[in-house]
Formats: sequence, C-alpha cells, structure tokens
Amino acid sequence: MTVETSPELTARKNAAIARGVGMSTQIYAERAENAELWDKNGRRFIDFAAGIAVVNTGHRHPKVVEAVRRQLDHFTHTCHQVFPYENYVALAERLNAKVPGDFPKKTIFATTGAEAVENAIKIARHYTGRAGVVAFAGGFHGRTFMTMTLTGKVHPYKAGFGPMMNDVWHLPYPNALHGVSGDDSFAALERLFKADVDPSRIAAIILEPVQGEGGFVPAPEGFMKRIRALCDTHGIVMIADEVQTGFARTGKLFAMEHHGVAADITTMAKGLGGGLPISAVTGRAEIMDSSQPGGLGGTYAGNPLGVAAAHAVLDVIEEEDLCNRAQRLGDRLKQRLAAIAESCPEIVDIRGPGFMKAVEFEVGGAPSPEFTKRVVEEAMARGLVLLTCGVYGNVIRFLAPLTIPEPVFDEALDILEAAVLAARA
Ligand code: PMP
Repeated sequence: MTVETSPELTARKNAAIARGVGMSTQIYAERAENAELWDKNGRRFIDFAAGIAVVNTGHRHPKVVEAVRRQLDHFTHTCHQVFPYENYVALAERLNAKVPGDFPKKTIFATTGAEAVENAIKIARHYTGRAGVVAFAGGFHGRTFMTMTLTGKVHPYKAGFGPMMNDVWHLPYPNALHGVSGDDSFAALERLFKADVDPSRIAAIILEPVQGEGGFVPAPEGFMKRIRALCDTHGIVMIADEVQTGFARTGKLFAMEHHGVAADITTMAKGLGGGLPISAVTGRAEIMDSSQPGGLGGTYAGNPLGVAAAHAVLDVIEEEDLCNRAQRLGDRLKQRLAAIAESCPEIVDIRGPGFMKAVEFEVGGAPSPEFTKRVVEEAMARGLVLLTCGVYGNVIRFLAPLTIPEPVFDEALDILEAAVLAARA
C-alpha cells in the first residue's frame, strides 16, 4: 500500500529535483503543530519522525516561534565574524555548562550536523598535529567529503562518489544481535594498530553513543569507558557525535551522560535548533583553542535565528522536563512493542535508551527490509509517519516529539499495533 496524496507534485518533483535526494514519503507538508502534520489535501499525520530527530520540542513550539519572531524584529544576519552578537556568546556559555565533562570548555557554531563533524575533525587534527581518524562501521556522520568518509555505510552514501579522504579507518561497532561484542571491536582495534597504523598517528576516534542511521544501536555498558581509556593512553581526541542522540532524546540531555565518561569534543545539531538550522561543537578549551583565528567559522555559522531558537529549545527542555518525559514515553512504547511482539515473531529486538527506541524485524532468521517496509506503509496509510534505519534497512526507529500530547501518543500506539498486524496479514 503506497500513500501518495499529491501525484501531480510527485511528477513535478521528479522532473525538477535530482534523484539523489531520496524521499521516504511523497506527502507534501502544508502545516505542522507539535506532533501532528497536515498535507496539502488537509490529511492529518502523527509525526514519529520529527524531521529526523530535529523537533524534539515539537513542531513550532510556541516559545521557539516567539524567540525566532523576536529575533526577526532585530536582525536576521550580520555574520558573527563581522558583527558579533551576544546571543551567540550566551549560547556558547550555556552549552559549555551543559555538555558532559568536568573541565573548561569552548564552543563554536555551524549550521548542519556534517559541518559540526567536519569542524570537530579539523580541530582534533590541528590540536594533535596528527591526521588519522578511527570511526565505526554502521556509523553515520554526514554527506560532505570527510563526513561521508567517516560514515560506515557504502550504499547509498559513498558509492560512485570517488576516492574517500585519506587516513580514515573503520572498526566494527558492538552489536550483540549481530554477533559483535565490545571485545570484538577492541580486538579489531588492536589488529588495526598492529597491521595498519601506529596509534601515535591517530588524531581522533569518533563514535555515536547510540548509532542512529546505523540502526539505533546503543554502545554497550563499559564500552565508552574503554574508548576513553584508550584515547587517554595514546593522546587521541575522543569525539562523541551527539547530532542524533542529543537534546533529551535518550532520557538525558546528552547520551554520553549514560556512560559516566566525557568525550573531549561533542558534536550537536538537529534537536538544538528545534527546527531551525544550527549546529555546535563543544570541547575542552585547550583543544578548541588550538586553531588560528580565521581557521574556523563560516558565513552563516551560528545564524541569529538558529541561536535564538536554540536558547528557547534549552529553556523548553528544562521547563517541560523533557528528559524525564522521554524516559516515560519510551518505557510505554517499549511495553507496547513487547505486547505486539507476542503475536509478531518477526520482531527480534526492541531497544534503545529513553525515547530513542527501535524495533528490528527478521523473517526466517534473516533481516527483512520487505517486512519493515510493509509496516511503515501500513502505518502511513493509517496516518502515522515512521522512519526506518539500520545497515539492512530492517529497523523502525521511533522519534516522536517529546512534547507529544498523551491522547496523540495513545492513538499512535494503536496505529502502530494495527500496522504491524496488517503487515503480517
Ligand atoms: N551525525 C549524525 C549522528 C547524524 O545522525 C547526522 C544526520 N542524520 C549527521 C551527523 C549529519 O547531519 P546533517 O544531515 O545535519 O549534516
């Protein structure tokens, strides 16, 4: 069952837009409010995608809208490198205080997640004077050249785009369901250091505390501590990519808070702007300060509208206690999925911290992207927007706004159950 509510627009899109911009639905948004979206035909959808983990605080949260409106009345752009503004400084101060790590920190702003990661790598290379970067298979860090190289999935992200950047190595990410333990990852790391590269050439290790696009795979307990210790032993900068995990999604402001250690550099985007494009890199002051003035920045980096929105997002997360709400909603979703699994043997795993939950499907012992797609289509036909992820495309991830009203959440759970059952029929 394919839902296509605007066939004429789909035809225009196909004629006008490069096909490399993949789209998971053919529904054209007209209006959105908190956890609901309406298309051009007035059809309503419950949004369990949140623009891929962006509107954790809901579509058009009144406080975010008000903050942006106020900023619009003052100025929309000066370029912070030309005519700076206090809001940028204040947001840096707030992130320096909130990002995990009991040490002096500094921050820069950019616009997208990929740009944040690019900057984190530049900073780590500058600070260490080394070139090498270790990343993880299944990880996702963006679509620019360095971030595409770091991304641990060939199709569709790397195939056909020519040589990748030098000095990047991938390790297996622990994934119990697929037979990879934390020990396996470290054994691969030892082999890497023996066979390919001396650790003294590695500038940074970058990883997601919960792999996002890779399938909502959380790092196992103790894994981050081992990475931290390894980085300390070899003078390697540890980078936590919290672009998808950040801003209350996992039940904490940052997913690294679940692990009891801090990265040297944290990258953020998505949820930070509540729908406005802004990203950030926060890290140890001495590392962040290594680059010469002018080496970092960008015309739109830390755009005033994004900065204003981010301040409102941080306020809303606190005022509405969204970390605890993420945990409560995630627990309820997990319970419901466990109940659905009793009559759906295709569900082989339900996982993820807080409301960064995912469910994985197999048929006949093998990952089933086909079954997964059917569930998504059945849900869409009933008015619930779901997203897939995972190296095999057999995982559905749940990313509703953390501000979703209870009745809308209940309705979504009922639709989810109906969609899974219909996919089996
Ligand atoms: N890092 C992670 C962990 C991500 O999930 C993403 C986006 N899915 C990115 C980086 C890239 O962000 P953007 O698309 O804003 O460049």
